[in-house]
Amino acid sequence: MSKRVFILSGAGLSAESGIRTFRDSDGLWEEYSVEEVCSIGGWERDRDKVTKFYDARRADLKDKKPNRAHKMIAYLKNKFPDNIEVLTQNVDDLLERAGCEDVIHLHGTLTDLRCEDCGNIFKIGYDSQDRSICPRCESDRIRHNVVMFGEAAPEYVHLHRLYNEADMVVVIGTSGYVIDIAYIAQLTDYSILNNLDSDPNIDQYFSKVYTLRATEAIDMIVDDVEEFLE
Ligand SMILES: [Zn+2]
Repeated sequence: MSKRVFILSGAGLSAESGIRTFRDSDGLWEEYSVEEVCSIGGWERDRDKVTKFYDARRADLKDKKPNRAHKMIAYLKNKFPDNIEVLTQNVDDLLERAGCEDVIHLHGTLTDLRCEDCGNIFKIGYDSQDRSICPRCESDRIRHNVVMFGEAAPEYVHLHRLYNEADMVVVIGTSGYVIDIAYIAQLTDYSILNNLDSDPNIDQYFSKVYTLRATEAIDMIVDDVEEFLE
């Protein structure tokens, strides 16, 4: 059996590329509440507001660039395509733009839209959703392709594979509020955590912890993965 390495990333991976999240306290986000724009209830109450929010996120993503950590994850995935699975909570496309293939987006993708009538997922890129219709069924009931609070996350099926198959797990830039990374670490023989902030309640479960920015830790992580797989 070949060894299986799962790389799970979150907001901390894209933070250095300028992608901000609700946990940041600065500017952009003060005009929105998480409840309004990231929950199924908010979507049902005001579809226009939520649509504008994701249009703005898409426009904002357009000129962002993958950083060195995205590029080195792509390097590892290309070097060991059969051993490595790349899972991310991020909805941006910076891993893809760094050349990483087969990225599993646990919370959906900003650069796609979804048809509410037939379920078709189709590319929008960085454009506004304005007047989009489904290329398959021609419905105009179109929504963003990002998982909201209060709805199912179908890609989580891949997390269950991680629980069952991983020989090594590398967690980059996610704190464990949404996905229980301490639990994942306990299931896996060899686990590495890289976050900018330390959290003793979580860190203690990992074999190795890098309390650094993703771009500062990535070379050590590459060495760890190569050593494990070679
Ligand atoms: Zn459709």
